[in-house]
Amino acid sequence: MSIEWHEERLYIDGQLVEAEGGRTYDNTNPADDSVIGQAADATATDLERAIAAARRAFDETDWSTNVALRVRCLRQLSEAIEKHYADLAEITIAEVGAPRMLIDGPQLGAPRAYLPYYADLAESYEWRHDLGDADTMGGPAHRWVEREAAGVVAAITPWNYPNQINLAKVAPALAAGCTVVLKPAPDTPWTGLALGRLVDEHTDIPAGVFNVVTSSDKAIGEILTTSPDVDMVSFTGSTATGRRIMAAGADTIKRVFLELGGKSAHIVLDDVEDMSSAVGGAAFGCCTHGGQGCATSTRLLVPRSRYDEAVDAAAALMGMLPYGDPQDAGNMTGPIVNATQLAKIDGMVKQAVADGARVVLGGGIATQFDKGNWFQPTLLADVTNDMAIARDEIFGPVLVVIPYEDDDDAVRIANDSIFGLSGGVASADRDRALAVARRIRTGTMSINGGVWYGADVPFGGYKQSGVGREMGLAGFEEYLEQKAYAEPTG
Ligand code: ADP
Repeated sequence: MSIEWHEERLYIDGQLVEAEGGRTYDNTNPADDSVIGQAADATATDLERAIAAARRAFDETDWSTNVALRVRCLRQLSEAIEKHYADLAEITIAEVGAPRMLIDGPQLGAPRAYLPYYADLAESYEWRHDLGDADTMGGPAHRWVEREAAGVVAAITPWNYPNQINLAKVAPALAAGCTVVLKPAPDTPWTGLALGRLVDEHTDIPAGVFNVVTSSDKAIGEILTTSPDVDMVSFTGSTATGRRIMAAGADTIKRVFLELGGKSAHIVLDDVEDMSSAVGGAAFGCCTHGGQGCATSTRLLVPRSRYDEAVDAAAALMGMLPYGDPQDAGNMTGPIVNATQLAKIDGMVKQAVADGARVVLGGGIATQFDKGNWFQPTLLADVTNDMAIARDEIFGPVLVVIPYEDDDDAVRIANDSIFGLSGGVASADRDRALAVARRIRTGTMSINGGVWYGADVPFGGYKQSGVGREMGLAGFEEYLEQKAYAEPTG
């Protein structure tokens, strides 16, 4: 299937341009391995040009100080996304393998709210905060604080929910007055490049304020993390890469926002009445988009007294989950993004079985598809929290069921992880669920299936799941510095 509206060129300094030497690479569809087209394959020189353009735009234009211009431009970009919504949907399904069922939700429909949200926030934000008069050291003074843009932002994003994550960085960064170099993941170049084209064709965003650079070489992003001209790196991806980015930024004391991995626990308390709905959040959640989500609950913690009942309920739900061709609106889960990821998931499940886990459902590569990268929805029982399958992020449709003795034990197991991104609690007693949830060291918690996701909700991790918060007011202030002023009153 050919996708007519798309962009293959980089966007640097207000121009849609080819990569140095006209280099391109194949953009492939993970559902059938077909090449849907090309994407510019940037070199280090291209990336350095983009950084220089963003630096110049920050230092020499009024972008960082002109709130009205920014608000107008963000609204223009939002309107452009509305106009090209159907085009962006087709690109997303084809390059991400995202099920059509998720397009109007987390893949595209929900994130389109970010631009209007941050335009409104920039407009109403208290950029200057008065601290009043004081005489702290013998010099009476009037003091206030002004918020200013953090500078040049490198936005480095992954392939699983590219529109969501690109916009969760670009919208607040631009609203704050930063200039941006967006570096999408090699697997999902078109969703990022499309933003460059929309900015170019539909907005008054000055040249250099927004740049998009795609490359087949994932390590090229390192230049963004070491460049003295980049003030801040906003990264979403694996914890391993997050560690490298933090280390690479040390020399220039880079400001970092990191949204990293997760191994979230969904805790079912022993008083639940309907076991099927109690395990539903984990059973469906772990399979949504092939489990390729960092906030997915991949550990199901159930009371030992109700273990078999919970395993049966989860297996029944996961067994009837429709998966297959992402173009088919009836499918809830699609392919795995590439062969490397597929092999990683398969290896982790094989290791789990070798470690003593019992396969209740699935357990391997789905062979009914002759092309593409597919893994069966997989349920593993008899898992203990010390097994690798319970400790490492998997990014596949795999749920493990771990028994616990009492609420304290459930809290201990949930917190026994290097990660702390998300999770959930199900109970017939809301107060009891809340009491457990308050003891879990994670950035988001769902109580009885409540959906926390939204433009105004801060999202991010405790522990090795990250630093800082994305979206909401906190996700705006990540991109702001504060400057304190004083003048004599005497
Ligand atoms: P994956 O495991 O799927 O490659 P990563 O977390 O490694 O996920 O990648 C997320 C994003 O970070 C991608 O855009 C990728 O190209 C980029 N990236 C990978 N390695 C580095 C690095 N060392 N420095 C900067 N960016 C990187």
